[in-house]
Amino acid sequence: MKYIFITGGVVSSLGKGLTSGALGALLETRKLNVRIQKFDPYLNVDPGTMSPFQHGEVYVLDDGAETDLDLGHYERFTHCKLSKFNNLTSGQIYEHVLQKERRGDYLGKTVQVIPHVTNEIKARLYAAGEGVDVLITEIGGTVGDIEGLPFLEALRQFSLEVGRENTLFIHVTLLPYLKAAGELKTKPSQQSVAKLREIGIQPDILVCRTEQPMTDDMRQKLSLFCNVEQKAVIEEMDVKRSIYELPLMLAEEGMDRLVVDKLGIDAPESDMSAWSSIVRRLVSPKGGEVKIAVVGKYIDLQDAYKSIYESLAHAGVGNDCSVKIIRVDSEDVERDGAQKHLSGADGILIPGGFGDRGIEGKILAAKYARENKIPYFGICLGMQIAVIEYARDVLGLDGANSAEFNESTLYPVITIMDDQKDIVDKGATMRLGSYECALVDGSKARSAYGQNSVRERHRHRFEYNNAYRKRLEEAGLMVAGLNPKRNLVEIVEVKDHPWMVGVQFHPEFQSKPSKPHPLFCAFVAEALKKASAEKK
Ligand code: GLN
Repeated sequence: MKYIFITGGVVSSLGKGLTSGALGALLETRKLNVRIQKFDPYLNVDPGTMSPFQHGEVYVLDDGAETDLDLGHYERFTHCKLSKFNNLTSGQIYEHVLQKERRGDYLGKTVQVIPHVTNEIKARLYAAGEGVDVLITEIGGTVGDIEGLPFLEALRQFSLEVGRENTLFIHVTLLPYLKAAGELKTKPSQQSVAKLREIGIQPDILVCRTEQPMTDDMRQKLSLFCNVEQKAVIEEMDVKRSIYELPLMLAEEGMDRLVVDKLGIDAPESDMSAWSSIVRRLVSPKGGEVKIAVVGKYIDLQDAYKSIYESLAHAGVGNDCSVKIIRVDSEDVERDGAQKHLSGADGILIPGGFGDRGIEGKILAAKYARENKIPYFGICLGMQIAVIEYARDVLGLDGANSAEFNESTLYPVITIMDDQKDIVDKGATMRLGSYECALVDGSKARSAYGQNSVRERHRHRFEYNNAYRKRLEEAGLMVAGLNPKRNLVEIVEVKDHPWMVGVQFHPEFQSKPSKPHPLFCAFVAEALKKASAEKK
């Protein structure tokens, strides 16, 4: 059993999550069984209650855990399936330690960061490693953060316990480029490594994030000052075209060889052909271009719809076409009408969301897609929007709405789920995680998936109101997927439309470049059809 720890230096947002994912991918190409996890030093129990402005997307796992978006990278880059045990926060640790203290488990001892908090962290490392060859653990934040200290201390102790030869410390750091000096600077990295060494951790590999290529001199200097072998100073330039180039870039730098050698792992040479072909399709697709408008309220944020953007890119791989994403602010649509912002789109996607800001703009976008026969993909809130629009404009139920946005609407076509009514706490209380969905014969979803039943991940409190089902179906909004146990409507489709599909679940959490999601693929294929019909 081998353990790799990934820390970050100098600044946040260095792409440690991507580096961890890409390293996992690289080790998988050497036939190693890997798992990647993240320790987040903040005090929230999980990111489920955090605002997208603070934290970006909340990534949901099969078991319903609401986790950091880096777990999305881990699942997309590798084949590992993660669980709630793979995203540990200080909040969870302290919650656990304090419960134990109240139960009297510490037998009257003073409860302290060392050893009680660090013991909990180590216990989680031992447990998470079971059944894999290599466990990669990314530590959130930057070395030098006060809240990260107990984690680094636990790693130091852990390395001593399992043997230094079984652990590898990778420090991802930044080499800033100073325009005035015309060069990359190594000093911040030297100092951040010094901080690590102060705690007793000597990094084995330095991954240097840079915009410019490094010179040999710089590698030498970093090697000398950071006490890292020169061949273990790895350059990681910004990827220009696609994040999925990263495994190839790291392989070129000799990263996988370095890791297996240093850990004494006997593994076959890496085979990068699968990644090369994914990247080929991403950077020079053969089959034309589609423009997909994503209509949301966090379009300026890089990370709020991360998995959606990634899944669209994967669908480009699936269709061997280029997918250009147009980010549209639903409040702009509300103000200016749909035509102005959506007329160039070959497909319209409305992602998940909460709260009523921008909702009417999204409803206008759905109406525009339906009336103009533009392929439409509604995800979670986007599905609810399609139902509201259909009820208002086709059924003529004026003012139909979701009870989330108007509790006293006359026509609550979307309503709060029965088991959600009495819930007061906000954390981890939605309908979360993977549930079965039975697909209806003759539906577009059934044909996209090519199977009768699927499992998809959920995160919502409101649902399609079955009281309106008969009327909606008679008016042409077909039910295409149902949760068999509870008779919940999970997929709707507009019959008289090339491809207007809404799903209550989040397919974007199960798409990978190596296995693009069938619904995203079908949606992009329809958009492609529309784009090429227009060209003719
Ligand atoms: N706000 C809606 C609900 O709770 C949709 C949730 C979502 O899009 N994830 O049902």
